[in-house]
Amino acid sequence: MIAVSSCLLGIKAKYDGGKNSVDRLLKLCPGGKVVPICPEQLGGSPTPRPPAEIKGGTGLDVLRGTAKVYTDEGLDITDLFIEGAQEVLKVCRIFDVKAAILKERSPSCGCNIIYDGTFQSMRIPGQGVTAALLASQGIPVYSEEELTDELLQKLFGQTL
Ligand code: SF4
Repeated sequence: MIAVSSCLLGIKAKYDGGKNSVDRLLKLCPGGKVVPICPEQLGGSPTPRPPAEIKGGTGLDVLRGTAKVYTDEGLDITDLFIEGAQEVLKVCRIFDVKAAILKERSPSCGCNIIYDGTFQSMRIPGQGVTAALLASQGIPVYSEEELTDELLQKLFGQTL
């Protein structure tokens, strides 16, 4: 099984109530290998919700307790993000998930790049909280921007 960010599957999970549908991923769903996950919803955040960014580091730093997640109005919602990441890990264990495809740049799902916490659209290298937790537990994470034919073949046994 492969966990996929819900918003990439056309589910209205984004902070603004929108989605980020990726047609190639949607076409793979009938094969029965996709588990949709949204860590922010699983952590108890409403949809829509205020935008959030990690301040003081990356998702790994949040898990280590040296960085925090704030809304654009300065509300500390770190606990919701950690709770969501732990719930996603639980889902991954239940469904024997072998890898995850997650939305790049999200403070939860970003796999290679996140925003720097200034809400100025400034990007930094690093993972979101959920991506960092899954990776630390041996579940490889890939962003939707890394979906090559080779990767799809490796994860799903087919390309589109
Ligand atoms: S937390 Fe992840 S799955 Fe949920 S809306 Fe944000 S990027 Fe998509």
